[in-house]
Order: sequence, then C-alpha cells, then structure tokens
Amino acid sequence: MERAEAVVRGFQELYGKAPDGVWAAPGRVNLIGEYTDFNEGFVMPLALPHTALAAVARRTDGVLRLHSADIEAPVAELAVDTLAPLSDGGWAAYPAGVVWALRDAGHTAVTGADIHLASTVPTGAGLSSSAALEVVTAFALNDLFALGLTPAELAVLAQRAENDFVGVPCGVMDQMASACCTGGHALHLDCRDLSTRQVPFDLEAQGLRLLVVDSRVKHALGDGAYAERRAGCEEGARQLGVSHLRDIAYARLPDALTRLEDDRIRRYVRHVVSDDHRVERTIALLDAGDIRAIGPVLTEGHASLRDDLRISCPELDLVVATANAAGALGARMTGGGFGGSAVVLVESGDADAVTKSVLDAFEAAGFTAPRIFPAVPSEGARRLSPAV
Ligand code: ADP
Ligand code: MG
Repeated sequence: MERAEAVVRGFQELYGKAPDGVWAAPGRVNLIGEYTDFNEGFVMPLALPHTALAAVARRTDGVLRLHSADIEAPVAELAVDTLAPLSDGGWAAYPAGVVWALRDAGHTAVTGADIHLASTVPTGAGLSSSAALEVVTAFALNDLFALGLTPAELAVLAQRAENDFVGVPCGVMDQMASACCTGGHALHLDCRDLSTRQVPFDLEAQGLRLLVVDSRVKHALGDGAYAERRAGCEEGARQLGVSHLRDIAYARLPDALTRLEDDRIRRYVRHVVSDDHRVERTIALLDAGDIRAIGPVLTEGHASLRDDLRISCPELDLVVATANAAGALGARMTGGGFGGSAVVLVESGDADAVTKSVLDAFEAAGFTAPRIFPAVPSEGARRLSPAV
C-alpha cells in the first residue's frame, strides 16, 4: 500500500485536497493467441502485478485535470464538453479519451474529475501500459459517478478511447485483460462476443515460472505492419467467404489454404487459424492441470509469428532460441511484434540459468540488456481505497 499512499500524497500536493479514492488497473501479457482478436478469435492474457494507480476526486463543474507522477509534464486542464478526438494531448489523451468515450456513450453524468496517476507498468514494452491508464480511469469514474457499468463494458469504452480518441487501432484484448483478469488465472477471451472464462494458471503450485523478457527494442518496421496484417487477414476472410477468420475451423484449414492464391494471404490465414487452435489446445492442457505441456505450444506459436505472420525480430528470436536451448519448456514473442516482450515458461529451478543465458546471448550479440521478470498471474482492475 506504500504506492497508494504515495499517489494520495501526490494528489494532495497537486490539488490541495484529498482524493475520493484510489483505484488500480494492471498491465497484461498475452500467453497465446496473437493477432487473433480482430479476427474475432481467441486470446489468453494474464494480468501482471504491475499496475497503474489513480487517485481521483469527482468534480461537477465540467473541469478535467490530469497529472502523471511518471513524466515531466504540468497538470493538463481540459473542459469535458469540448474534448475532441485526435487532438494529440500526448499522454493525457488516454485518460481524457475515456471521459470522452463515456460521455459520447451517453454517460453525461461524468462532469469532471481531478486525477493523479502513477504506474509501474513498463511503457512501450508491449505490456499495455496504455490500457492500464485507460482502465484505471474508467473504473474510477464508474464508481464516482455511479454509472453501474460492468468491467467488460468499461473495457470496451476504454478501447474506444484508444481507437477513436487517441487514434491507435488496437483490439479489445488489452482493456479486457486489465479489467477482467483474476489472480492465479489466465483469461480465455472470445473476441467475438467478449465472453470470458478464468482458466487456472497457478504457476507457483506446479513449481513453474513464466518469465517476461522485455527486449527493450521497438523497430520502426512495426509502424505500418499492424494495419497491413489486419488488412491481409480481412482480405483472406473475404476470399474465403467468411466474415472473419474465426469462422474457419482448424480441421478445414488445409482446404482453405488451397483456395488462396496469394502466398502472403495464405501465410496470414494459416497463422490466425492455427493460433486460435493453439489457444484451444492450451486451455485443454491447463484444464487438465498440465501447465508444463503448453511449452511446445508456445514455441510453435513463435514459429508461426516468425515465419507466417513475419512480425518477429532478431532480438525476440534470440530470446526464444536461447531460452529453449538453456532448458526452458517453451517460449514465444508476445504482443504486436517487431520488439516488445517475449514470454518464457521455465521450471522455477531453471529460471536463473535461463535468465543468465538470455542476458549473455544479448551481450554477445551486442544488443541492449533485456529486462527480465516473472509474470505472476494477478488480479484485474479494482478499487483500493476506500474499501467498499
Ligand atoms: P504499451 O501500451 O505497450 O505500453 P503504448 O505505446 O500503447 O505502449 O502506450 C504507451 C503510452 O502510454 C506512453 O507513450 C504514454 O503516452 C502513455 N503512458 C503509459 N504509462 C504512462 C504513465 N505512467 N504516465 C503517463 N503516460 C503513460
Ligand atoms: Mg498500448
């Protein structure tokens, strides 16, 4: 709770009064199911122990004040009724976009707020520091203005803030993970109807660890790649006569591939349909209590992202190859690709040796040292204080 106290103190210093409460929302890492969300398929994220905290006080005079303890920027002061999409408010666009999305959806009871944020989610590492900011804001406003929205409804509005206000075309996984995950579980999310199931993922009980390796790189190549892959998947669905690639059953994949002429489209379709299947295989193994057995599924997923979707990079390939050679059970890049993070499943007793191998390999290759930490499946967004 030390962090909660610090964010309250920061709020008091900035605004000269006490906040109405403190809320938390985590970053996330995706275990399996990549580039499947916009194809209305399956994903399986887990929440990280890293969170964005927000101390918030309700206002009813139309004023929105925003501040982050983590960056050098003065308090942003905005008027809720003149918030405009894509106005490039820098970091403040994330929380401001949530206010805009709520009001645009008819929740005009949201008439202002003073917000002070502090986050331990690494930014730009593919761990959804942006969704953590949005979701913590959405949860706080939902409580303070008694909007009565569910976590999933808040996640969808937070996604709308990022898509339409900030201008980033992300799927709904990040916000759903931050809003809906529970400790000790991975979240099976069906991106067609947003139905969810908490799948047991108690690593510690089985003597396992899931390491997150933040490669510390973000290649410029990634800038247009997401839109290109997305358009390619839509084209594949069109050629196959389905609304989304989710509708191609895995058993029908070989037949579907013979009906596609373009090699690039064929690769994208193969990735998406096989990754949906890997999510299903992972769930079956976790439900059977066999976490170890998902290792090869993760590594297979990496090969698909590298060879078919072609969104990996030398740093991420090095993590996976080195970790597996050093005794990991399996590994894959996670997130949008071209940098960001990888996940590595290891026996707890092997974690140090695998970590050292990856650090050594990065040094030998002349790459910046990666940041490596365990992903403990943690709880989703919640009110920290006052207790309810
Ligand atoms: P990711 O979500 O993978 O971490 P994004 O590029 O989507 O990366 O989001 C990162 C952006 O979110 C930052 O550039 C910044 O604008 C905003 N952000 C994240 N965390 C904070 C924070 N603690 N304070 C202020 N802005 C933040
Ligand atoms: Mg983000």
